[in-house]
Amino acid sequence: MTIFEDVESEVRSYCRNWPVVFDTAKGAELWDVDGKRYLDFFAGAGALNYGHNPEPLKQKLLEYLSRDGITHGLDMYTTAKGEFLNTFRDKILGPRKLNYKVQFPGPTGANAVESALKLARKITGKEAMVNFTNAFHGMTLGALSVTGNSMKRGGAGVPLVHSTPMPFDNYFDGKVPDFLWFERVLTDSGSSLNDPAAVIVETVQGEGGINPARIEWLQGLADLCKRHDILLIVDDVQMGVGRTGPFFSFEAAGIEPDIVTISKSISGYGLPMALVLIKPEHDVWGPGEHNGTFRGHNPAFVTGTEAIHRYWSDDTLEREVIRKGEKVEEAFNKIVADTTVTELTAKGRGLARGLQFTEHDQAGKVCAAAFERGLLMETSGPDSEVMKILAPLTITDDELDEGLEIVAESVKTVTS
Ligand code: PMP
Repeated sequence: MTIFEDVESEVRSYCRNWPVVFDTAKGAELWDVDGKRYLDFFAGAGALNYGHNPEPLKQKLLEYLSRDGITHGLDMYTTAKGEFLNTFRDKILGPRKLNYKVQFPGPTGANAVESALKLARKITGKEAMVNFTNAFHGMTLGALSVTGNSMKRGGAGVPLVHSTPMPFDNYFDGKVPDFLWFERVLTDSGSSLNDPAAVIVETVQGEGGINPARIEWLQGLADLCKRHDILLIVDDVQMGVGRTGPFFSFEAAGIEPDIVTISKSISGYGLPMALVLIKPEHDVWGPGEHNGTFRGHNPAFVTGTEAIHRYWSDDTLEREVIRKGEKVEEAFNKIVADTTVTELTAKGRGLARGLQFTEHDQAGKVCAAAFERGLLMETSGPDSEVMKILAPLTITDDELDEGLEIVAESVKTVTS
């Protein structure tokens, strides 16, 4: 099969990096139509935390479909939805002593963010938001309003939400005390930041370049929000569902956001699904105040339920993610030590890892060199200066080693 580009919009992007037609995939491997194998350090931009077609989830899905289980259920009570909600309460929220109601905002991460922003405005009766430099929250007009990337915002015209960007952790390389500017602007009558409804934050900025906020910075932010009566929204669309180790990325900081957005890997099978978690006292929407045709995809409930049973009944996966993350960190540190490029920085948390280049285009060239060797990776950061890996959390050690070897060779090829 040849590449089919005559009918699809020019906006497509990933295919430009990987100009082959993919056909099948299992675990951390994909195959193209010519039978060439690729290792996947991309994992659907974080939507495939358990890899492609994980067998136990596939079996549940096949069973469900073969008994004509409901696929499209809108808001109806269905067995699949009930099992998902009960399992999420009993296995995810309960053991963590978290008290949230679950809302289904629509199928995507942007739907979840949009819902969170709307809800924060309804809860507080206030309009303004605070976001962070380099944040990424989605492509719809509201989500784009709290996104910090000027290229992405450039596609939109006028954002819908009034939002003020504040410096993310380490923005000033430690030269300015944490939250100095934020607090000043909040309390200074001469500023434009007027009584915001909410702050939206990622604990590790994914699209922004794999920038982990320090745990104490996240705690400071939660404290600031409490003192100034601002709702805290954690966008866990990319870093949730175990990407950094724990199920929720904010667990490490011991904070309890008012609202949490989840999507990408929550179905465990790459099926579209999103959740918004809301403190019970903030569950203020009446019936029908937020609806949508594809809220609650029943096959995704089935795989999502099985994923929780399979991977989150104990802390095995969390420990594995930390261990594999350390392995990647070690490999990246060695690349940094060995390279002739002076300013190469390794960063990340858990299995969200990045290598930041200073020279224009080098991260992209490394990804291209890796593709030639059969490894899929993408870039992130405002200038695509970070080579990013989001390998499936379930990747085997052999596959991880193989991929890291290709990364090292590719960096060497591009920088020497
Ligand atoms: N929030 C974060 C943190 C994300 O990384 C993304 C997607 N990369 C989104 C929201 C938007 O999700 P979606 O692409 O499913 O709309």
